[in-house]
Amino acid sequence: MAAGNQYHIPKVVLGSSVGQRSMSVLGFGTAADSSDYAVLKTAVLEAIKLGYRHFDTAFLYGSEQALGEAIAEALKLGLVGSRDELFVTSKLWCSDAHPHLVIPALQKSLRNLKLEYLDLYLVHWPVSARPGKWEFPIKEEDVVPMDFKSVWEAMEECQRLGLTKSIGVSNFSCKKLDNILSFATIPPSVNQVEMNPMWQQKKLIEFCKAKNIIVTAYSPLGAKGTSWGTNDVMDNQVLKDIALARGKTVAQVCLRWVYEQGATLVPKSYDKERLKQNLDIFDWKLTEDDLHKISQIRQQKIIVSVSHGSNPKFLEELWDGEL
Ligand code: NAP
Repeated sequence: MAAGNQYHIPKVVLGSSVGQRSMSVLGFGTAADSSDYAVLKTAVLEAIKLGYRHFDTAFLYGSEQALGEAIAEALKLGLVGSRDELFVTSKLWCSDAHPHLVIPALQKSLRNLKLEYLDLYLVHWPVSARPGKWEFPIKEEDVVPMDFKSVWEAMEECQRLGLTKSIGVSNFSCKKLDNILSFATIPPSVNQVEMNPMWQQKKLIEFCKAKNIIVTAYSPLGAKGTSWGTNDVMDNQVLKDIALARGKTVAQVCLRWVYEQGATLVPKSYDKERLKQNLDIFDWKLTEDDLHKISQIRQQKIIVSVSHGSNPKFLEELWDGEL
């Protein structure tokens, strides 16, 4: 364990980015039930001091403005030498997932963040919604099928225009990724999905490895304490026993497990001590026995069931019978 910003966070290179862009494997999530501007800004500045360089936001989260302000402040204070040292991801919301709305949506996010470019722009869900609404969960009557080819062409145009260094997707199944790969001229660099010891994504991880797509785990702690998550992951007895035996916290066991599966991760914490704790996962290992025990945990998909369980149309668009 190191002090100050001496934590060493490994990096991965994105497959189809402009200029071989690399991304810290561990980033800072910014989705929260109540978006307190000042709390988020302070947390981002603390995170930068600790060594975080990768930030995950989305138009939907309402966190782009505060993150942008914190980045401007960090640059002013000299906490980072230049914008290039940071990696910023944002996401295209479903109601903007229509070909003519993609570039304006990214420009809107850039204005919120006060940045000239993103490092990564993701299609947030493989679902479109009626334009003009920025709601989560999406109402059943607002769900429309996505025109994947045209939306992806517009995403590629975003990268060609220099508005983002790389593009990717989120919540995409293997089948949907295969579809994108069948026509993409710029393949997705990243697929960001729910992943934690209770939803292990084994098939998707293998598929993405074979296709050179980086998997980023969201809700790696099961989104404990949020309206879209569960405490079941952090309360899991197998994980508690492993944490006790290793002298680590359950959160650290979850995060280390994700990292050992070859995925990147964006846990969210606005608490300085937990931010520090979440970084402290790179100089120890889970044992073979730990990994075996974790592989036996009963699987339970959380995020979509909690948020969209009563919207069968959304679920149908999402899973196309695969999962
Ligand atoms: P998460 O990171 O699994 O869990 C966040 C919760 O865990 C917060 O309540 C946080 O509270 C708590 N926490 C963090 N570190 C902890 C620790 N060491 N010990 C105990 N509790 C801890 O869930 P998430 O926010 O859903 O996922 C992370 C990020 O992924 C989001 O913020 C967002 O950027 C992204 N995301 C993307 C999608 C998508 O569709 N692409 C969906 C969901 C999330 P404190 O802040 O109080 O520490």
